[in-house]
Amino acid sequence: MRLSRYFLPVLKENPSEAQIVSHRYMLRAGMIKQSAAGIYSWLPLGFKVLKKIETIVHEEQMRAGHIPMLMPTLQSADLWKESGRYDDYGQEMLRISDRHGRDMLYGPTNEELITDIFRSHVGSYKDLPLTLYHIQWKFRDEIRPRFGVMRGREFYMKDGYNFDLTKEDALHAYNRHLVSYLRSYERMGLQAIPMRADGGPIGGDYTHEFLVLADTGESEVFYDSAVTDLTFGDRAIDYDSVEQCQGVLEEFTSKYARTDETHDEALFNEVPEERRRVARGIEVGQIFYFGTKYSEALGANVQGPDGKQSPVHMGSHGIGVSRLLGAIIEASHDDKGIIWPEGVTPFHCGIVNLKQGDAEADAACESLYDALTAVGLEPLYDDRKERAGGKFATMDLIGLPWRITVGPRGLKNGVVELTSRRSGESEELSPEAAVQKIVEIYANHQTGRGF
Ligand code: ATP
Ligand code: MG
Repeated sequence: MRLSRYFLPVLKENPSEAQIVSHRYMLRAGMIKQSAAGIYSWLPLGFKVLKKIETIVHEEQMRAGHIPMLMPTLQSADLWKESGRYDDYGQEMLRISDRHGRDMLYGPTNEELITDIFRSHVGSYKDLPLTLYHIQWKFRDEIRPRFGVMRGREFYMKDGYNFDLTKEDALHAYNRHLVSYLRSYERMGLQAIPMRADGGPIGGDYTHEFLVLADTGESEVFYDSAVTDLTFGDRAIDYDSVEQCQGVLEEFTSKYARTDETHDEALFNEVPEERRRVARGIEVGQIFYFGTKYSEALGANVQGPDGKQSPVHMGSHGIGVSRLLGAIIEASHDDKGIIWPEGVTPFHCGIVNLKQGDAEADAACESLYDALTAVGLEPLYDDRKERAGGKFATMDLIGLPWRITVGPRGLKNGVVELTSRRSGESEELSPEAAVQKIVEIYANHQTGRGF
């Protein structure tokens, strides 16, 4: 993409309404624009990152054997009346009536809808196990929408639902989700720690929230610092293996890590004092096993091998896709702007032309642009007639992890400059070597072309 032809409405001034750094940078980098309290338009740069995060979530869900689909945002109230949650959900649910006076709602979640789909089409244990998921906009009429996309009213969420014959099978699905979530967050360059949590209105005894540690997080968390040493890495995992998934769950959840709702001071005090941490975290996902709560309420039964009908065991599993943009920025920025991890960066590399209009500099930039594009990478070429300082400030603000700087002086010696946004370190390389280095960096990150 050439910056002169892109739509990147950056702001010079700090927007006064933004209280936390991620909100500030998302507005300043021209990623979002508020349309109403807690409701945003996603401008091109924000949309690009949103889609990258969404793609990682899709890839990791499908890798775990979960099946993508799409349910609508607007739902009829009937199913919610059947499950009993129409009244329970309270004012967070946006209720609408259509022209015929029928009660409708903008879905805050989809347990009812998916259970109805299941009961309409599945009747036998032979069709199980089954995990269906979608990534769709949700609406919750939050009392205090704030911090930009972090606590929106309209937000983008992956929600998945497993259907199993037995509790054991459903717990395997729970563990499988935990593993796939660990992989997803790591690919986004994030450490998200699974913590024992509270069931809330969805209910259930088994639930973990995934938290990204950040001072601006809304949850208070208590943990053994040893949990921050754990990484999933690129280990191979067989998602069908009960033992392997169970093993990962045990590894990642056996140390003390809890949100304030489930915090137990006496247990916490058993952690060696120098490893006890009290901090704040951003919830970026949650997994639940809730047994037969919805299947009983909505009559989702299957016939078992013994010919008997029984309600299916279910769980639901959510990832806050739009909130993740804020969480990643909270975890990765400096005073100049965002620092995108390679896995989610909107463009793989910036190209800054120090002397736009200089025939040699222009030709060198064009050829870098072509070489990167030819190998499937997306450069953002700042081809505007602007001062170098302004170009650097824009690149730093929007946070591309790598920048190639091209100027007549370097070209005389056959070199360009490759700079890491994270470390600030630069090296001089031939243009070919710079391209090669970028290619090698991204070879370790499964990263496709964005939108
Ligand atoms: P919270 O406690 O933050 O209100 P929740 O526990 O009600 O969230 P879930 O139903 O578990 O949320 O939804 C799954 C994920 O969706 C959450 O882990 C979070 O990342 C995201 N999410 C929930 N509410 C919002 C919101 N208002 N804005 C953006 N993302 C949200
Ligand atoms: Mg939650």
